[in-house]
Amino acid sequence: MTGVQLESVCKFYGDFRATEDVNLTIANGEFLVLLGPSGCGKTTTLRMVAGFVEPTRGSIRIGNVDVTHLPPWKRSTGLVFQSYALFPHLTVHQNVAFGLEMRKVPKSEISEKVMTALQMVRLDHLGERYPRQLSGGQQQRVALARALAFRPDVLLLDEPLSNLDAKLRHEVRVEIRNLQQRLGITTVMVTHDQEEALTMADRLVVMNEGRIQQVGSQRDLYDRPQSQFVASFVGRSSFLNGRAGGARFVTAGGLPVVIDSRLEGEAVIALRPERITLANAPLADTPNNLPGEVEFVSYMGNLIDVHVRLNQHDHVIAQIVNRDDTNVPAVKDRVFVSWAPSSSVFAK
Ligand code: ATP
Repeated sequence: MTGVQLESVCKFYGDFRATEDVNLTIANGEFLVLLGPSGCGKTTTLRMVAGFVEPTRGSIRIGNVDVTHLPPWKRSTGLVFQSYALFPHLTVHQNVAFGLEMRKVPKSEISEKVMTALQMVRLDHLGERYPRQLSGGQQQRVALARALAFRPDVLLLDEPLSNLDAKLRHEVRVEIRNLQQRLGITTVMVTHDQEEALTMADRLVVMNEGRIQQVGSQRDLYDRPQSQFVASFVGRSSFLNGRAGGARFVTAGGLPVVIDSRLEGEAVIALRPERITLANAPLADTPNNLPGEVEFVSYMGNLIDVHVRLNQHDHVIAQIVNRDDTNVPAVKDRVFVSWAPSSSVFAK
């Protein structure tokens, strides 16, 4: 088993930069997720690792091998496409065997390797069926078996769950993660679904406009986002614009706020909605206690979003848990919002 290394990888289509200066080290056995909005360059990055797209600049190594200019079938990577890309006229068994034949696995070994791969995804009893005779989840597992059948060093998953319905998606997430851990296979998955990314990954890479914005664990990204983009893309945040000087910050609307970072000049504070407390009166022992008016209340079942207008310029969203005894404010109620100074702060 081996890790993957991308060094200063760029892909230009004419003048357009699909990815720029991507540097990444993926550890042996790690499950890494590339997360970002549509068009941010995550699929391009994955396809460069798979060998379907050639980088304009930079290099890619898998283990000790420089694969930058190797075709896909000469790399030890198994790719699962978003559409599964199964051959409709071939049976499940033949679909899985196809990948092995492409890689010139001796004929005598193919049948056994196909069976082992189908057992891995619990489909060994459906080898004679055609793709049209399978459910979406089963087709997805055939695609996974095909990618794993020749025992690649690296598994690459391109939005593998996007064609499944919500319930199945939850099940298959757990299945893929269990299989990946059992095999200890280095895995890179692309998704734009933040929940999927957060539940499956060891580490996440957030991309935007072709560049890596931040790499880290779920906690790193949620608790210590390094940019406004990450703070809004991973979880949700309210932002207060303003000016900082030492541990003081004054919002655009003139409200004084205590922060625990040393910043100077124009800055933005990001606040996670569940870390904002709502009260009818100022709380004791809290440095940040700002009065406001409830503008909008949105019920999401177990959670309730309360949008609070602090003044013409400043606005925050507080999230409260919907319990029997929850005091849910009404629109136009006067409330106080407070939060700990340790909430995230960024320089602009
Ligand atoms: P999505 O989630 O929508 O698949 P993505 O983050 O995977 O998005 P990519 O498919 O990597 O994005 O594309 C990155 C950018 O490169 C996009 O703006 C896309 O239009 C552009 N692009 C991709 N392939 C080509 C191509 N063959 N020719 C020109 N531009 C391309």
